[in-house]
Amino acid sequence: MDVRRVPRRLRAPVFDAARGLARVLALVASLGIGSASVGQAVETPTTPAASAPSDERAKGTPRPRETFPVQERRTWRFEEDLRDASGARVGAVLIDNEFSGARVNACERLGPFEYKIVTSPENLPINPSPWYAFRLHRDGVDASVAPHEVVVRIVVTSSKSRPWPRVSVDGGPFERAPRDRYEGGEGAKECVLRLSLGEKPVVVAANTLIGIGEIEGWTDGIAAQFGAKPREIGRSRAGRGIRAFEFGAADARDLVVVIGRQHPPEVSGTVGFMRFIETLAADSKLARDFRARFRVLCVPLVNPDGVHEGNWRSTLGHVDANRDWHEFTEPETRAVRDAIRAFAAASGARVRLLLDFHATNKDIFYVPPDATPLEPPHFARDWLAAITARFPEYAVESSATNNVDEWTFKRWAFETFGAPGITYELGTSTPHERIGVIVPGAAEEAMRILLAFVEGNAESESASGVRPGADANAPSPAAR
Ligand SMILES: [Zn+2]
Repeated sequence: MDVRRVPRRLRAPVFDAARGLARVLALVASLGIGSASVGQAVETPTTPAASAPSDERAKGTPRPRETFPVQERRTWRFEEDLRDASGARVGAVLIDNEFSGARVNACERLGPFEYKIVTSPENLPINPSPWYAFRLHRDGVDASVAPHEVVVRIVVTSSKSRPWPRVSVDGGPFERAPRDRYEGGEGAKECVLRLSLGEKPVVVAANTLIGIGEIEGWTDGIAAQFGAKPREIGRSRAGRGIRAFEFGAADARDLVVVIGRQHPPEVSGTVGFMRFIETLAADSKLARDFRARFRVLCVPLVNPDGVHEGNWRSTLGHVDANRDWHEFTEPETRAVRDAIRAFAAASGARVRLLLDFHATNKDIFYVPPDATPLEPPHFARDWLAAITARFPEYAVESSATNNVDEWTFKRWAFETFGAPGITYELGTSTPHERIGVIVPGAAEEAMRILLAFVEGNAESESASGVRPGADANAPSPAAR
């Protein structure tokens, strides 16, 4: 489906008026005339004057002011601290970043069993969401040697630290570092973590590691439920596959798109994505009814390179993927855009909802501006009201004004398809068990509203012989 099939009354005229000029300016930019290239400073887009949307339109994907090479993958070996009674060196404390999702930009020994880990961003400016992940273990001594008390100073350059590291011992579940073992809270550039290092390796990370391996395993499992295999819709800059899968009625005309992990550190967003899709894929009556009417396209991991490298925000191209949904400088956003366009191209198909999962400092929904005419109408308002009614103790927060001038997926979604495009942010520190309660409830409410909308459409279609949306004057059933 393309925008021309969206009834004109559903299109905001200002977007149409600006689009032509924006295309010309984008062409000029692509020819390198007057455009900023990587390494040059570009100001973050600011709120434009209401009378000058075209100027704002001309700005494409923000370029970084400064870029840095990817981290060196290595193991740091510190032999000074493991000695026998005679003082001879008998082993070493090893610290490494040689696994997917790890990030350590520098490491050094400060004193006996005291080490410094430095994490720095891939480019500047950068969002204040620093990521780190590293592994420690002892080499050369066996289990008979008592665990050593190790102090790790985690230093964050160019930003503030994130609250509370997670620790996994010997591949076990990640747990928040105990309160009495961690100093330095939100806002500190340096925090101190005390660990007991025995024979088992310990992984420390800024958040629970849910990376490429975990997401691919989950994706394979869900797709297999429907006898499907995830397909590759494109490749990242480093050649990693970007995978998608679909489920629901093969001939459904009503479509839903759900994507996730444009931003590498946003693990809570991935947890939300998983719980949402699992609810749509569940063996409940509601979900079965939903799948009989809808088809769902899922892209769980938009930015695999960023996740692999432990980037704080960007793709390997030093671009914030969620500011690239206009110029499409990145292979990742182009791949997802093209997959969604192909998904929506079926005859008579209409995209009804596009969701993008993220994480930030709290649970919040970023919804389209109130005045944006969309179909289904008022979906965001109705959905948030339903979530509030279902979880009265859960303060549902939303904003229609956050990042309205940025080239986010959400904006591209509602401008392109005339359907609600929504960013669903889960709190970085929201417990995963809590996400596992709220998000399935939210998914059920979304299914109910969407089903009611298309069933209302079907009724009025059979009554009038005209499919709503095909006629600009046809009243929307949900608006009656
Ligand atoms: Zn994000």
